[in-house]
Amino acid sequence: RTTRDYQALDAAHHIHAFVDQKALNAEGPRVMVRGEGLHLWDNEGKRYLDGMSGLWCTNLGYGRKDLAAAATRQLERLPYYNMFFHTTHPAVVELSELLFSLLPSHYSHAIYTNSGSEANEVLIRTVRRYWQILGKPQKKVMIGRWNGYHGSTLGSTALGGMGFMHEMGGMLPDFAHIGEPYWYVQGGELTEEEFGLKAARELEAKILELGADKVAAFVAEPFQGAGGMIFPPASYWAEVQRICRQYDVLLCADEVIGGFGRTGEWFAHQHFGFEPDTLTIAKGLTSGYIPMGGLVLSKRMAEVLVEQGGVFAHGLTYSGHPVAAAVAIANIKALRDEGVVNQVKNDSGPYLQQCLRQVFEGHPLVGEIQGTGLVAALQLCEDKPSRKRFANETDITWRCRTIGFEEGLIIRATGGRMIMAPALVATRGDIDELVSKTKLALDRTAQEFGRL
Ligand code: PLP
Repeated sequence: RTTRDYQALDAAHHIHAFVDQKALNAEGPRVMVRGEGLHLWDNEGKRYLDGMSGLWCTNLGYGRKDLAAAATRQLERLPYYNMFFHTTHPAVVELSELLFSLLPSHYSHAIYTNSGSEANEVLIRTVRRYWQILGKPQKKVMIGRWNGYHGSTLGSTALGGMGFMHEMGGMLPDFAHIGEPYWYVQGGELTEEEFGLKAARELEAKILELGADKVAAFVAEPFQGAGGMIFPPASYWAEVQRICRQYDVLLCADEVIGGFGRTGEWFAHQHFGFEPDTLTIAKGLTSGYIPMGGLVLSKRMAEVLVEQGGVFAHGLTYSGHPVAAAVAIANIKALRDEGVVNQVKNDSGPYLQQCLRQVFEGHPLVGEIQGTGLVAALQLCEDKPSRKRFANETDITWRCRTIGFEEGLIIRATGGRMIMAPALVATRGDIDELVSKTKLALDRTAQEFGRL
């Protein structure tokens, strides 16, 4: 079939994510047919460097035969069974053994799902159940952050802070939001340190406004992904943790993007040095080869649910799916045994960050470069000393993303930021290609907008 055939069928049958469908139908989507390492090929044979590891998920890159073999073996042996009828199976048990061997010993239990959105739904119900068991059923407000993203189901949309998603019927009672720790845009005259504390103390003010007896949990991404790879100032997380402990509010980290090595630590909260009560995981758990997510609970929470909770009225047909679990095991073993996470910490991560700073420090479109490990953002700005933003910054970033595609590069535009998160197996050669193609795309964009 030709690309045009696929595009016509696609337009006839699909509503795509977060796009103006009519405009997409007119343009025609690229038809991706193959992947190997960090590269993708479309139906026309054009090659792209995937600077976003799919959607922050193909941590091991494309084309891993060991993951495919793990899925095949499990499909042939036991393609499905559930955890409902007082039953379990080796794949899910061995996955948990492996997962908890990576985590500090204060985490003990997991509830598996098929996605990050579902895992956050499970989080909402589990947190409410936890406080109910402890005799505090009124403690059920979940506080998230504006511009945070936790998924596209109803509860996870309400928890997230994407205003346009709330407007499309996505808000629910018992959810509240505080501002994001985005110093570059919101810091004004404050130092980053001062702004980090101010942003954290918004949480304290919100808890006091709502009443600590009503607030169940604060949920946030250690660094904000879909909101633009926003890294909080160093003072932020310790203060958030202090506030949560002081008011007996659970601290829940959404590790869907940050987990499984992205920052050079296994989990992003370890990079930022705080200790959440729960972790939401997905994406890198299976390197995106098969859908799987999960909610990880602290021992403290698990003990309450197990010892005092009786029946937890919750269950998914595919929770702990054996084939997904088998792929997750193969994926985690590869990340560990091939030294991939260490490589991000000690070599490829610092190399990417250093290259970005060398190449883009004086670029006429770029005001700030943020990132750690293999995740980074280029903040665009019109005037560097005053941090003045372009009035048409989304036109600029969107155009840069489109030029990127033309040049065989996939990076993402979010607001006034160009963001990237290549697969964790990126070699120095892959990183050189990523940085040089990004420079080409930004230079062409700067020329078009009269800045070069
Ligand atoms: N949480 C975060 C931080 C995410 O970035 C995403 C997806 O991008 C989700 C949750 C939702 O995960 P999923 O798309 O697997 O439902």
